[in-house]
Amino acid sequence: MPPRYFATVACPVCGTRFQTPVEQILDVRVNPEVKNRIFSGAVNVAICPSCGNGGALNIPFIYHDPEKEKALLFLPFGIGNGEVERQKLAGQLTRQLMDSIPQEERKGYLFQPETFLTMENIVKRVLELEGVTEEDLERSQKQRQFLDKFISALEEEWPALLADNEALLDENFFGMLQYTMQVIAMAGASGGASGGASGGDFGKVEKAYNYLVDNTAIGQRLAKRTEVVRKFADDPTQASLLEALIAAPDEETLQVLVQSGLSLMDYSFFQQLVYRMEATEDPQEKAHLTHLRRQILEIRDAIMEASEDVARARAELLEKLLNTEDPLKMARSYLSELDDTFAFVLRSELTAARNRGDKHSIEALQRIAAVLNQVTEENMPPEIVLARRLMMATSDEQVHTILKNNQKMLQPQFFQFLEGLEAASREQGEAKTADQLAHIRALAQQYAPQPEAAPEAEPSTPQPPTPPPAPPEDETRTASGLIIAKR
Ligand SMILES: [Zn+2]
Repeated sequence: MPPRYFATVACPVCGTRFQTPVEQILDVRVNPEVKNRIFSGAVNVAICPSCGNGGALNIPFIYHDPEKEKALLFLPFGIGNGEVERQKLAGQLTRQLMDSIPQEERKGYLFQPETFLTMENIVKRVLELEGVTEEDLERSQKQRQFLDKFISALEEEWPALLADNEALLDENFFGMLQYTMQVIAMAGASGGASGGASGGDFGKVEKAYNYLVDNTAIGQRLAKRTEVVRKFADDPTQASLLEALIAAPDEETLQVLVQSGLSLMDYSFFQQLVYRMEATEDPQEKAHLTHLRRQILEIRDAIMEASEDVARARAELLEKLLNTEDPLKMARSYLSELDDTFAFVLRSELTAARNRGDKHSIEALQRIAAVLNQVTEENMPPEIVLARRLMMATSDEQVHTILKNNQKMLQPQFFQFLEGLEAASREQGEAKTADQLAHIRALAQQYAPQPEAAPEAEPSTPQPPTPPPAPPEDETRTASGLIIAKR
C-alpha cells in the first residue's frame, strides 16, 4: 500500500482535535485527478468535523509528472528551523518520491526538484506546464472569488450578483461549484455535526447551485446534458441511444453518448438513423439528422483511433512489467494506466500464450495478473476487497475460511453493501451473480459478531497515525490558522 500519513490538527475556532490525511507525493500518473486539485489549491486541506472551519495545512509535498519529467517541491515559508532543516526535509521528500519509482525509471530530474515557497507559485508553474495561460488563470481566480461571494451573500442579493457576473459562468465555473459541494458533503459525512459556519453549509451551496442552474443558459445546458445522458444510461438500448443523440444539446454531450454507446453502434443502428432521416417531412429535422450522422461518425472514428493508441501504450506497459525487477512498484507507479484496456491486453496475451502452449510466458503473465490484482485491491475500500475475494472463491469451504479470517469486518455496513450489490446484479439481469451474493450473505451471517451491549466508548478515529516527516516543532500554526500538532 502506498504510504498514507495522518496529521493531527487542532481547530483554532472550537479547539477540536482531529486527524486528517496528508499527501506528500502527488503523482499525476498514479492519480491524474491531482492536477485539478493543485489548480484549485485543494492539497492537504482540512475541515474541522465539528464546526466546519477549515483551510490549507500548508505542509510540504512533491508534485510529479513523469511524462513531462517534472518534479515540483512545495516547501512553504515557516516550515523547518533554518536552512539545514529545510534541506533535510526536501531530501526526505525527494527520497520518498524516488522510492516510489522503479529503479530503471529513476532519472536525474528527480534529484533536483524545482522548489516553490508559496502555493500560488506552484499552481502557476503547473498551469504553465499544462499550457494554461495567464488570462485563463485570472478568469479562474475571478470565478473562484465570485463563487465565494455568491455563496456567502444573502439570497435576495443573488439576482443582482448574477446579473453583474454572468460572463464568468462557464463549464469550469460549474465544475468548481460541484467540487465545492463534494468537499463539503464529504467533510459532513466524515463525522461530527453539520457545519453551520463559514465553509461548511451544504444546504446553502446546493441552493446556490440550483439557483444558478435555473437562471443561466449554460446552467440549463449542463443540466440538459446530465438529463439526456442519464436517460440513456438508465436504459441503454439502440433506440434510447438514438433518442439521446437527437436530443443532445451540444457536441460534448454527443461525445459522452458516442463513447458510452459505442458497442451499440452497429450497422442496424445507422440504418435506423438513416430511416429517420428519410422518413421525416420536416426539412429542418432532415438537415439536423444528416448533420448528426456525420458528427457521430467523426466522433466514433476519433474514439476508435484513440483507443488503438491506448491499447498500444498498454501493451508497452505490459512489456515493462514483464521485464522489471519489481513489477509491484512499477504497477503502483502506473496506477492510472492499469485500466480495463490493460486488463484486456493482459487477458489476450494470456490466451495467446495458452494457445501456443508457451509455459514460460503463461507463468510470467500470471505473475503480472497477480500484481494487478494486488494493486487493485490496495486501492479499494476493505468491504469491496472482501466481497471480491468471497466472489472469487471456488468452493464453499474457501468462503468459510475467508469469512472466519475476516470476522471483524462482518459489520452491518458490510451486509448493507452485499445487499446493495445483490439488488444491483438482479436489476441488471445477472441472476447468477445475485444468487451467489445471497448465498455468501447467508454464510456470512453465521460468522457475524454478535452485537455487544453497546459500549459507549470513544468514537473511533482513523488508525495508522504515522506522523509526516519530522514536524519541526511541537505545534505549527498554518496560515489558515489550523494548528498541526506533533501527535
Ligand atoms: Zn472547529
